Amino acid sequence: MSLMTEKDLEYWLEHVRIYANNGEVADYIPALANQQPEINAAAFYALKGECYTAGQFEYTFTIQSISKVLSLALALIQHGENAVFSRVGKEPSSDPFYSIRKLELEDPGIPLNPMINAGALSVTNMIRGRDSDEMVSELLALVRRLCDDDSISYDEKVAKSEMETAFLNRSLAYFMKQNGIITGSIEELMDVYTRQCAIKMNVKQLARVAAVFANDGRDPVTLKPLIPLTVARICKTFMVTCGMYDYSGTFAINVGIPAKSGVSGAIMGVIKEEGGIAVFGPALDEQGNSVVGIRLLEKLAEEKHWSIF
Ligand code: GLN
Repeated sequence: MSLMTEKDLEYWLEHVRIYANNGEVADYIPALANQQPEINAAAFYALKGECYTAGQFEYTFTIQSISKVLSLALALIQHGENAVFSRVGKEPSSDPFYSIRKLELEDPGIPLNPMINAGALSVTNMIRGRDSDEMVSELLALVRRLCDDDSISYDEKVAKSEMETAFLNRSLAYFMKQNGIITGSIEELMDVYTRQCAIKMNVKQLARVAAVFANDGRDPVTLKPLIPLTVARICKTFMVTCGMYDYSGTFAINVGIPAKSGVSGAIMGVIKEEGGIAVFGPALDEQGNSVVGIRLLEKLAEEKHWSIF
């Protein structure tokens, strides 16, 4: 494996930026439809603590589905494996992330995994707190520790925009409430879920989160444990099996690293014993993955022999 440099990152991002023409910005959340497809950025946070950047690396975006990894980590920390996996499964789905159909097929209606929307809603429903504000605070506290940055927060406009239009996610939640998997107020759950998806970061902050996973849950600089080793391992395994939606199998062959993407156009990737990478480019392919992000990770994985397989 050859080590990453800032030059590599700049070179390959420049090389793949043209692929933005092959994708479309997500528009089912109205506030995301305003994103500029030509924006791109990448950061690599090495385990030694240096962070390399390329493109518009100060640009902030909402992390969307990447937050599913973080809410899962929190639920596992708060409740342990047995409780969490009584309300969400461990199997890949091969359906789009928003799909509802397997909920009816599965007995007893437990969503297949925490990386699809149904599973993520079930996980978010487990976060401790007397109300939605407390639940969001719990999650933000964890995310701020991972980023080593107390300024991390969520984008109110994006959260509100999704809250006003999340009819399918509400349907998933009501379906699971009917089956006793979700409890409490669905509107309150949606309030937490839309704010968690709207957590705002730049690629440097996101690459640091990935670096914590690359470091088995420890702070890459101080080595302090931030997430228990087993929780980090479970999260990384889900990133491999389901992190790139219904493209996870192909991604495992072409790239071969634990990764998670979000419909804003962000992807975080975990490079074992080396560091964390974050890529942003809002033009998406059919599965909802950043086209520039996928291309960049493919190129770098090939150049640097990143595949864990
Ligand atoms: N907030 C988005 C949703 O629930 C997240 C989906 C995603 O990033 N794939 O639809």
